[in-house]
Amino acid sequence: MRKVTIEDFDLKGKRVFMRVDFNVPLKEGKVQDDTRIRAALPSIKYALEKGAKLILASHLGRPKGKVSEKLRMAPVAQRLSSLLNKEVKTTSDCIGEEVKTVVNNLKEGEVVLLENVRFHPEEEADDADFSKQLASLADIYINDAFGTSHRAHASTCGIASLLPSGVGFLMKKEVEYFSKALEAPERPFLTILGGAKVSDKIGVITNLLDKVDSLIIGGAMAYTFLKVQGINVGNSLVEEEKKVEAEKILKKITEKQIKLVLPIDHIIVQEIPACCEAGRKEGAETKQTQDAIIPDGWKGVDIGEKTIAAAKILIKEAKTIVWNGPMGIFEMENSSKGTKEIAQAIAESSAVSIVGGGDSVSAVEKFNLKGKFSHISTGGGASLEFLEGRELPGVTAIPIRPR
Ligand code: AMP
Repeated sequence: MRKVTIEDFDLKGKRVFMRVDFNVPLKEGKVQDDTRIRAALPSIKYALEKGAKLILASHLGRPKGKVSEKLRMAPVAQRLSSLLNKEVKTTSDCIGEEVKTVVNNLKEGEVVLLENVRFHPEEEADDADFSKQLASLADIYINDAFGTSHRAHASTCGIASLLPSGVGFLMKKEVEYFSKALEAPERPFLTILGGAKVSDKIGVITNLLDKVDSLIIGGAMAYTFLKVQGINVGNSLVEEEKKVEAEKILKKITEKQIKLVLPIDHIIVQEIPACCEAGRKEGAETKQTQDAIIPDGWKGVDIGEKTIAAAKILIKEAKTIVWNGPMGIFEMENSSKGTKEIAQAIAESSAVSIVGGGDSVSAVEKFNLKGKFSHISTGGGASLEFLEGRELPGVTAIPIRPR
């Protein structure tokens, strides 16, 4: 990691502004899943142990630049406080006189969590004056919010140019895993892509075609590729407007001699379960096809047995695996097997394994495989943009460490 990191600073007695990603799901005013809070604990604990006066800032939900009582940080502060076993102060805003007073009264090893930064429209606009007001609170800026690093906002970008800045441990780990996979992977390098839409993943596939040795494409996005190959996919989801791009991708895969697994059989239903799409029927009866063809009137909802077996061969060979997107509608029991078996096969492999993207992470959690991957990314959108080869403004804003 060539960026300045939290460990490059002497934090003792310093006011440290740490941008974290505490955008956690809330239910009835309580934190439902604290994964993101826990993920930031190493940096938080480190700063406190080193005697920093710690100022934490995050966004929560989409308040669209206005105060929203439902999106206040108080429940997050409560959860953080119980995880740290320590008081976490709160403020009613993230800038202004009250905040300055609380920050100036902080003692070494004390922590305040500022109010939701997105209550101000200036946050998402990366407004210079707002950035200045945030920066005026602190001596050092640390960005540990990987999940928000693809956004150029005041608290992820603007502030970094105004203070000595570095990344926290979570950001460092995320960037290191993804950079290693993209720049110097142990080979064979396998990428597994799934999920609902080809359009969401075209950028990723395109960027990875120059890097991977093998590719598995499952989920609904596979049907567009099959259709391009002239295979009837019945009523499955196909993005007609992406067929040309899908065709180009397939051509390049052949040219580059990338090993490819596309579904060679499927789990199909006549009506798709209600949980996932209007008009779908809960628990609809599924059928396993004998080959890649899906009859009219039927939809593919998961990869079939033969596809799972073919995918497992590539997984076994691989030394680096990046996985993004489920193989089927894994939320439903009778179309979850493909995703489950693929997740298990990755978990059992000795390859460096990286899981990115909200739905694949939910799948890993659902199948109780959380501890079995080398790295589970905390950033859905950010990890996708990283894999697309795009610059993450929040990472770019942090300077390179002087040699
Ligand atoms: P994404 O956010 O693009 O990774 O898509 C994840 C969603 O894709 C999950 O909610 C899955 O249920 C859905 N999905 C995966 N395979 C299929 C399929 N064959 N048909 C419809 N939806 C699917």
